[in-house]
Amino acid sequence: MTAPSRRSTFGPVREVFEKSFTQQAPIPEAGIARAVEVMRSGKLHRYNTAPGETSETQRLEAEFAAATHARFALAVASGGYAMRLALRAHGIGPGDRVLSNAFTLAPVPGAIASLGAEPVFVGTTEDLTIDLDDLKAKAGRAEVLLLSHMRGHIADMDRVMAIARDAGLTVIEDCAHTMGAYWGDVPSGRHGLIGCYSTQTYKHANSGEGGFVVTDDADLAAKMVLMSGSYMFYDRHGAAPDAEAFEALAGEMPNLSGRMDNLRAAILRPQIAALPENAAAWNALYRTVEAGLRGTPGLRIIERPAPERFVGSSIQFLLLDWPDAAIEAVLAGTRARGVELKWFGAPRPQGFTSIYRHWSYARPDPMPASDRVLRAILDMRLPLTFSADDCRLIARIVADEVARAAPHLAAE
Ligand SMILES: *Cc1c(COP(=O)(O)O)cnc(C)c1O
Repeated sequence: MTAPSRRSTFGPVREVFEKSFTQQAPIPEAGIARAVEVMRSGKLHRYNTAPGETSETQRLEAEFAAATHARFALAVASGGYAMRLALRAHGIGPGDRVLSNAFTLAPVPGAIASLGAEPVFVGTTEDLTIDLDDLKAKAGRAEVLLLSHMRGHIADMDRVMAIARDAGLTVIEDCAHTMGAYWGDVPSGRHGLIGCYSTQTYKHANSGEGGFVVTDDADLAAKMVLMSGSYMFYDRHGAAPDAEAFEALAGEMPNLSGRMDNLRAAILRPQIAALPENAAAWNALYRTVEAGLRGTPGLRIIERPAPERFVGSSIQFLLLDWPDAAIEAVLAGTRARGVELKWFGAPRPQGFTSIYRHWSYARPDPMPASDRVLRAILDMRLPLTFSADDCRLIARIVADEVARAAPHLAAE
């Protein structure tokens, strides 16, 4: 296959990539058809059901609970909302401290701050997972760890849970990038007390905005259902506890209105069913890019541990200890050839931020070892609209531009 190319000023033809890194796959036809039916019915609100009727949102909850092997699942308005709900149901409030990753997305510390609580950041390793030594050291400083599986990298969950048990720390999981992933045989989001997921466009199921919480704890599940804005309709849920769990809470829970609706549920249902198949497709793209990048001097591949059954919807690599100017040369070189790399560690936040240092409202303590890793992270999305050939081409372009920008390595 011949790729489009652009002639450089100095000679050799350089390949360019022409697809969009933000173009997601279309919504499955079954979801579109069902969404049209919902619109024709006019019954978009999840509780707008006739006696005996089961809403799309109810069905979605039952199916997501089954997919994650959870007793209870609640569909909500966003992933950020899911985290706020989980933390609040657990009793987090003003002045409480909550541990979370130094490397995550802004809505994670934002969820903590929205409750008047204070994020305390835990470092990141070269494998892009939470630093377990730092977690151990800080475990006594909070009651809850909001563990973010950022960019789909899952820490050794057996060790995380052992540290948490020893320190009396409750784990709530942010699975925005691990819906459909597993650590060993356990679905991501099912090690901790509550798992939180996002169905925002750039995650593993796309309803524009949306999210889930899952748990096995009936009391927490009932609290979250009530707070999500169920009014007296908590019996119209697909995977909620029995009425007794709610009766004890009457009048105790504020309504924080953040429901899922039937239109979004309709388009999500076939996507939840397709998670295993989509995970395999994402991983095929991921492994193709990874194979093409492997062996590039100065570029560090993130090795994935065997128990981590990840979903490779994005790929990261490190340019560890590279000077800013050389990293900027890679970014400019790849961008000119159609490959959009995101530099998470850019000195100044760009567009959105993923680095604890940029969240000054949380008054973060400096973490030099993490800073070294965060500075080195380059990232790209791998939407399912890409082919294996696309991925080979992307890897050739990145490897080539890294090699061009790498001469500084020889001087060291
Ligand atoms: C997207 C994202 C969230 C929040 O999800 P929304 O549905 O956009 O609110 C949380 N954590 C991480 C790591 C994310 O990338």
